[in-house]
Amino acid sequence: MKEQFMSAKCGSLPAGRHGASGGKKILIANWKMNLSLGQSLNFIKKIAKTKNEVVIAAPFTFLCEMGKHLKRKKIKLAGQNVSQFKEGAYTGDVSARMLKEEGCTFCLVGHSERRIYFKETDKEINQKILQLLKYGIRPVLCLGENLAQRRKKLTKKIITKQLITGLWDIKKPEKILIAYEPVWAISTFQKSKIKHSATTADIVKIHLIIKAALKRLYKNKSKTIKILYGGTVNPKNVKEILKLKIVDGALVGGASLKISSFNAIIKSI
Ligand code: PEP
Repeated sequence: MKEQFMSAKCGSLPAGRHGASGGKKILIANWKMNLSLGQSLNFIKKIAKTKNEVVIAAPFTFLCEMGKHLKRKKIKLAGQNVSQFKEGAYTGDVSARMLKEEGCTFCLVGHSERRIYFKETDKEINQKILQLLKYGIRPVLCLGENLAQRRKKLTKKIITKQLITGLWDIKKPEKILIAYEPVWAISTFQKSKIKHSATTADIVKIHLIIKAALKRLYKNKSKTIKILYGGTVNPKNVKEILKLKIVDGALVGGASLKISSFNAIIKSI
């Protein structure tokens, strides 16, 4: 089973182009709270010709203007977060309907920074996913264990809980994407100057656990759910990671902030 997913061979297609879910590999840039509007518009101008599946999770306030420049382009927009509520007196929140109006077709949910700094729970994350699905926005459910949990060998338990609670009451999983992002591999959580991603063996092992859990939840329907890897993906390691058939794409933080490095990543898929 593991060997089957280590290989990237898929008929005569170039290595790594298609993931285990069958679709093309996808790249999601997570810009977090970085760049200016001017920089972001310049950025998309430079990558606009890509034929690859590229999604940019930009700050809320950039989305509308970016959307105008992305009409008829392959690049899609994502929110980095969404309110768990439909509408009302929730100062500072942005609803799924608002994201839809801004032109978002994807939205990150449950990113580790939201879980850690803003204490988001699996239950809230589930409500956010339900809101997004109501408006036809594809949720990217981010999950992963932290270093202490990994050391205590709790990875499987943590991930299974994040999946089961996060996907509670979600009957149609086709629109969902999962991003496995071990907290210890996310560059901003690493104290050392030299940042490292998870090893390919770790990635395959955990993606298999996620696949098995999704299969238990959704039987055959689980096959089409894309499972991405995130955590210090950069131009040096992206090929090796995306060569893994079980990896349907990558969520890229730090390396998506520079046009040169993100372009190098785009070109390698
Ligand atoms: C992230 O925060 O989603 C992420 C993947 O960051 P980085 O690539 O910088 O580790």
